[in-house]
Amino acid sequence: MQEKHEKKIEPDHPRIKREKKTMDAMVHIYCKNHHSTSKELCTDCRELLEYAKYRLSKCPFQESKTTCGKCPIHCYEPEKRAHAKKVMKYAGPRMILNHPRMAFQHLLDGRKKPKKLQKKRITD
Ligand SMILES: [Zn+2]
Repeated sequence: MQEKHEKKIEPDHPRIKREKKTMDAMVHIYCKNHHSTSKELCTDCRELLEYAKYRLSKCPFQESKTTCGKCPIHCYEPEKRAHAKKVMKYAGPRMILNHPRMAFQHLLDGRKKPKKLQKKRITD
């Protein structure tokens, strides 16, 4: 599936792809059990997932990224962040049962130390 974006986004690093996949799985677990959806996500959860994937594509850490939960930046807007927190809290432990390999990989990724970002001038 190819999506057209107005701005060109670099192809995802495997690390980012993995994080997107994990996020995808977690949102599905959460939505299924909280909003009684089956395969399709409800509108809210679908928006959250879209948002999360978009943020990941823009993540400045890319391949040295730790997991979002441990990220020093926390780039989500407050409302999305609150929703994502609920999803992680609920789906995190369930990942071990539902997607053990993904959960294990996520554990390893969480041990990565993000490399220091080059200081950028903040203009606003
Ligand atoms: Zn939902």
